Amino acid sequence: MKVAKFGGSSVADANMLRQVSNIIKSDNDRKFIVVSAPGKRFSDDVKVTDLFIQLGNQYNSGQSYEQTLESISERFLSITDDLGLSPDIVTRIKNEASRLLKETTNTWQQMDSLKAMGEDSLARVLSAYLNKIGLHATYVNPKEAGIIVSNEPGGAQILEKSYQQIYHLREREGILVIPGFYGYTESGVLTTFPRGGSDITGSIIAAGVQAELYENFTDVSSVYCVNPQMVKNPKEITTLTYKEMRELSYAGFSVFHDEALIPAFRKNIPVCIKNTNEPNKKGTMIVANKEDNGQPVVGIAGDKGFSSIYVSKYLMNREIGFGKNLLDILVEENISFEHAPSGIDDMSVIVRSSQLTPEKEELLVNRIKNELQVDTITIIHGLAMIMLVGEGMSNRLNVAAKATKAFSEAVVNIDMINQGSSEVSMMFGIHEESLTAAVQSLYREFFL
Ligand code: ASP
Repeated sequence: MKVAKFGGSSVADANMLRQVSNIIKSDNDRKFIVVSAPGKRFSDDVKVTDLFIQLGNQYNSGQSYEQTLESISERFLSITDDLGLSPDIVTRIKNEASRLLKETTNTWQQMDSLKAMGEDSLARVLSAYLNKIGLHATYVNPKEAGIIVSNEPGGAQILEKSYQQIYHLREREGILVIPGFYGYTESGVLTTFPRGGSDITGSIIAAGVQAELYENFTDVSSVYCVNPQMVKNPKEITTLTYKEMRELSYAGFSVFHDEALIPAFRKNIPVCIKNTNEPNKKGTMIVANKEDNGQPVVGIAGDKGFSSIYVSKYLMNREIGFGKNLLDILVEENISFEHAPSGIDDMSVIVRSSQLTPEKEELLVNRIKNELQVDTITIIHGLAMIMLVGEGMSNRLNVAAKATKAFSEAVVNIDMINQGSSEVSMMFGIHEESLTAAVQSLYREFFL
């Protein structure tokens, strides 16, 4: 039994849904189908989920919202018309959205219920179409499927007890079409996962039914070893481990939601990233273990938007609790940190710049100066992090030497180097304007 999840671009219009249905039909093992809401049909199109968010915001700020509801209805109507299905779903969307807007007083709950309507409606449409072409398919609501989540609107987490109930889906007849992106709290309140969370639903269902494979259909034929916007026609990755995928998605590989790896990883379900438009291509497999093919680095990721809080204090190494006290200040100011490389008398804490405002920075500088009595404190902005990722780096000589050679060939100064003892990745902090040049040089060094 396989779980196949189709992302927003794969279900964006009627033609894509025909293609999706062919994919489902071509393999009897594809029993559990998880869908996103219709995504963009062209580059400046709007995703249906964004339309639903706009609808809620317009209503709650007293603006006119009717046009947005009309645009959502038209998107679905063009799909049902083209597929020769009844337009019932459009009436349902209009009635249900109006009811939610007028009757739900809790704006978080209202917003989550609106956001979920994109996937919910699409799952109903796809299930109807599969029946029309002669397959036996049933729409299954996440509550019925057993997806029980924490009470965190827009950021739900799956509760462990869900898996037992999900397992029983195996006993159901035919193909089950499940909307992605949301579940229900223990008290029955609809709550969504973070944005892009249909991947998470797919992974939860795959883990729950103990699928032989979780196929994640998207709009690329594989995961590339480097961002194709930085390097032309980069090499495709055929197999990755969960750990490698996690490290790569941390720094800019957005092909698979990072939270979606956890359920599959815990239950050891292999994941395959495939292209809806080229379903016969092998795609990229994500697995627990892979054979060492002699290549130390599988991918190079890079992301901008980091800042470093640099502090120095003479004899820091002998001061018990210095690091803890510094991080405690960040906790109290509600800032999460990414890395904390340290020297003998100094320490840098790398944070995402989006968490800092000029006021927050001033507060941090004052608190760190006064409470920790440091000699210097500097906040540096505009940093990029580059990650070299590969389990094959472990115990292999020369990786760091090759990397630093690539940086020097691109004439890029390294501000920071960090490598954990797991040796799955090596991280370099540089100034963001040099990101592309550095990544290109590393690609030449490790892949050409
Ligand atoms: N439709 C949701 C979003 O746009 C979830 C998803 O597509 O995975 O974020």
